[in-house]
Amino acid sequence: MRLDSKQSEAAFLNVVKDYTIVAPTIKVGEGRFSDTDIVTYGNVESLSEIVFDGITQFSAKSVLSPIRETLFSYENNNSAKAKDVGVEMKPTIVFLRACDINSVEVLDAMFLKNGGRQDSYFSGRREHVKFFLLECQSPSASCFCVSMGTSTTKNYSVFVRKEENGYAVKINDDAFSKYFSHGTKAEIEPAFVTEDLSPLSIPDSVDNSLFNHEIWKEYSRRCIGCGRCTVSCPTCTCFTMQDVPDAEDQRKTKRQRIWSSCQIKKFSLLAGNHDFRTTNGDKMRYKVLHKIVDFKKKFGFSMCVGCGRCDQVCPEYISMSKCIEKINAISVSDGEQ
Ligand code: SF4
Ligand code: SF4
Repeated sequence: MRLDSKQSEAAFLNVVKDYTIVAPTIKVGEGRFSDTDIVTYGNVESLSEIVFDGITQFSAKSVLSPIRETLFSYENNNSAKAKDVGVEMKPTIVFLRACDINSVEVLDAMFLKNGGRQDSYFSGRREHVKFFLLECQSPSASCFCVSMGTSTTKNYSVFVRKEENGYAVKINDDAFSKYFSHGTKAEIEPAFVTEDLSPLSIPDSVDNSLFNHEIWKEYSRRCIGCGRCTVSCPTCTCFTMQDVPDAEDQRKTKRQRIWSSCQIKKFSLLAGNHDFRTTNGDKMRYKVLHKIVDFKKKFGFSMCVGCGRCDQVCPEYISMSKCIEKINAISVSDGEQ
């Protein structure tokens, strides 16, 4: 289906009546450096607000897993029962690239298929969210989605491509056909990236000797434990809990789940004052091996989708892809011995 600019905006206005739309958009003056803009996820109300060719440094995972969410509230007397807050959410469309649509499969595994019990807060949101596909015509320097097997997807409701005089649309979900009925029929297929600029080999398994390998020392020296890599990652789900007194009624308290990071100080501190990952090298090892080896052992696919965001945002220029290269080189040479 092809629609000219007028038809496209009219169709989109009807979609906006029924759905909240979250897509990459420009935030003026909110860039990393003063007086710069940033392309990041936000609510949009017209197609013209969507940035089709920019890369976002942060993902849209907060749509499904909010940065801070209240799980339940309780009154501060022993007889009172906790009151489940539940999930209220308008149907939502999120514009995602193929790697990010694949990252939702990781979130599904973590929240819905982990430990034999579904996370009802996540599932309450998940059932309200649909995905529109954004195309990647060429890879960026930090992407390695082809190496991770996440460069393509069929899991989208609608694919939208911006063209010179309008938009090309491919509809996979009949629920959206009514919005785009005024266009001209055309066979539209999304293009996917077929080769990374720096292809990686991902090791199938690693030897236990990697645990104490000297490569981690560099990360202890270099990493500052800021957690920025994990905040930007579409598949990181570490959280902490806080009991927050209700500002208006001091007899009430809210139990909140808040994003945290395996990379920050004391995240692994246990009762009894035992911290089993103390150096930043230990934390890097945990993160990287979870992303490419340990999660895969449990769920059959890697946790890392190769979006390259962690490489882009790290203030110490630490590279996930370079670390994977090092691990692979060690695994290959161990295998040859
Ligand atoms: S670890 Fe880095 S490259 Fe992999 S999914 Fe997370 S942010 Fe993207
Ligand atoms: S790897 Fe970089 S972004 Fe991640 S915690 Fe260390 S310094 Fe921060």
